[in-house]
Amino acid sequence: MPVTSDTLVDYPSGATSSRGIVLATVALAAGLGVVLDRTAFHPVDAGWPDQPADRGTLAGHPVIDAVVGATEGGEIVVGRDIPVRTGTEGWSFVVVHVLAADAGVTPGDEVEVTVDEGYRRGLSAGHTACHLASLALDAALAEAWTKPIGGDALGHPDFESNACESSRIHEYGSVDVYRVGKSLRRKGFDVTALDDLDALAARANARLADWVASGAGIRIDRDGDGLADRRRWVCELPGGDAVIPCGGTHLTSLGELASVTVGFERADVDGGVALTMRTTAS
Ligand SMILES: [Zn+2]
Repeated sequence: MPVTSDTLVDYPSGATSSRGIVLATVALAAGLGVVLDRTAFHPVDAGWPDQPADRGTLAGHPVIDAVVGATEGGEIVVGRDIPVRTGTEGWSFVVVHVLAADAGVTPGDEVEVTVDEGYRRGLSAGHTACHLASLALDAALAEAWTKPIGGDALGHPDFESNACESSRIHEYGSVDVYRVGKSLRRKGFDVTALDDLDALAARANARLADWVASGAGIRIDRDGDGLADRRRWVCELPGGDAVIPCGGTHLTSLGELASVTVGFERADVDGGVALTMRTTAS
């Protein structure tokens, strides 16, 4: 049976279990790839692999990995073999659950998906903290810009979008790496703002403490239920909603956290400075 529509995904609403029909299986180097009509399983995205795949089971079989796949109706390709951007017309984007090669799952089966709730919760806390920390960093660096530049979700100069090189979420935290080189300096960023990293962390942490204390609500707005439909993280902060495009999972309120803190390290790299922000949520 050809797969002709996106997997319907339940994880944006926080679901950790679902029932679905097996639409297709595909033999992968890592095992047996299983595509369902719908799933609660969050897959890792090959293009921007910030949030890792969920852990859990499908029809009682351990899920070794969950990755984004794509198809034009024939062969299903996964990960870096996908030749088009997510959402490209004519393609369907699917969650590929990877099971052991000998798992007895076949098209037409109705199966139960169960996600490890503790691990999901840790990743959701880490992802929420990651977004909040990026907004606090932009605010703490607002004075470092000597020319006008586009604003972030709260209107501060958008250091995050202009400098972020990689973002990795783990349980109750994240690691973001920024690169400040010639192009950022040309856009008006004064790199001496990174000379006193303790002061930078103190400014960001003060703001993060205020935000966490607000207990602001968080929701995921979505254009549809398909994997490729656009979704947005909305945090209802006291000064107004912060909206960030995001395909991951999140807490439903900052009231679920006791604290979010950041620390910084810098390294001199070819042509500039690499800034690492480690974020911890509790
Ligand atoms: Zn995100």
